[in-house]
Amino acid sequence: MGNDRRISQIILMKKNKEQGFATRAIHCGQEPDPMTGAVTVPIYPTSTYVQQGIGQNKGYEYARVSNPTRTRLETNLAALEGGVAAPVFASGMAAINAVVSLLKSGDHVVCGNDLYGGTPRLFNNVMTGFGLEFTYIDTSEAQNVERAIRKNTRMVYVETPTNPLMRLSDLATISQICRQKKVSLVVDNTFMSPYFQQPLALGADMVVHSTTKFLNGHSDGLGGVVVCAKQEDADKLAFLQKAAGAILSPFECWLVLRGVKTLAARMEIHDRSGRIVADFLSKHKKVKAVFYPGLPDHPQHALARRQMSGFGAMITFETGSLKNANKMLKKVRVCSLGESLGGVETLISHPATMTHAGLGVKDRKAIGITDGLVRISVGIEDVDDILDDLDQALNVI
Ligand SMILES: *Cc1c(COP(=O)(O)O)cnc(C)c1O
Repeated sequence: MGNDRRISQIILMKKNKEQGFATRAIHCGQEPDPMTGAVTVPIYPTSTYVQQGIGQNKGYEYARVSNPTRTRLETNLAALEGGVAAPVFASGMAAINAVVSLLKSGDHVVCGNDLYGGTPRLFNNVMTGFGLEFTYIDTSEAQNVERAIRKNTRMVYVETPTNPLMRLSDLATISQICRQKKVSLVVDNTFMSPYFQQPLALGADMVVHSTTKFLNGHSDGLGGVVVCAKQEDADKLAFLQKAAGAILSPFECWLVLRGVKTLAARMEIHDRSGRIVADFLSKHKKVKAVFYPGLPDHPQHALARRQMSGFGAMITFETGSLKNANKMLKKVRVCSLGESLGGVETLISHPATMTHAGLGVKDRKAIGITDGLVRISVGIEDVDDILDDLDQALNVI
């Protein structure tokens, strides 16, 4: 880990002391344009840059390598997660693809068994073809991680809380194990956003986000980022941006820069309404079970309090059957039935047939994704309207 980690932690501590999260979200990398004074970062739709002479340029040569709008976003996201750099990619999956591209044929990865559906799809159907090996385990027991690490393990890849069952992994303990075994720890922090969870401060090496979700927050742009604690990883990922080219476009960078300005404000409302909706669902007679780390009866509620500074907007609940789920999902009016999450609007989805359809019945059953399960990403509408909508929809069951 060495110096890079320590330096980044010092930078983070200094930044935290100087400026709060909301201030950094609005100002880091988002300084007024030096040429015109424009308060909003300009979009630079240019593929190339005029050079003054051979080897003489103003820091930009070709847009696959770097773009000024992208530099601003990468500066901003690095400041929010407390990393040394934050290379952005064309989607969350492109970011995850870049992370595993740091590995070599014969390397082994230990993964959570309850990941975003697209992640095992990439690992099992594409990356195994390049000689990478993956083992899926329940990372909510940190000891399982230690047991699964082999001689050729190079990376541990976790998501916490998981999708859709909201199981937590203890990042401080897992990062200690990884450090001892000299294995990188990568955390997909999409569900919590840097506002509620800071994996690098808990010892992770890299944080992945689908910026499509809370960071952008307005359901209008795809994107991904890998925030690095170590300069060495950051350099390799910058090389992959140039070499493989799955970069985020200037306009999409601008959308995230715009969205992230309200991240703190949005997350506060997402969290407040999330708690209210979870409480309502847990008392509703048509609901059989609720999975939300903010509920005192969540099996890892104590860890959630320790590791996260909020519980967020993601809630999963059991309606009892596919028929019940379908009946209620057809009836919602304020909530929209759709894939994705983290937008200002409340999105509701059916994991078994949507996000996790690719897993197959057996694997789904094995990790507890039943046909009656419904996932909700609580938006920032008036919470009473969300509650009324859910109530009338549940009462048709
Ligand atoms: C959506 C999502 C991804 C993939 O991101 P895209 O931007 O859709 O490619 C990865 N991880 C999690 C947790 C997600 O929710």
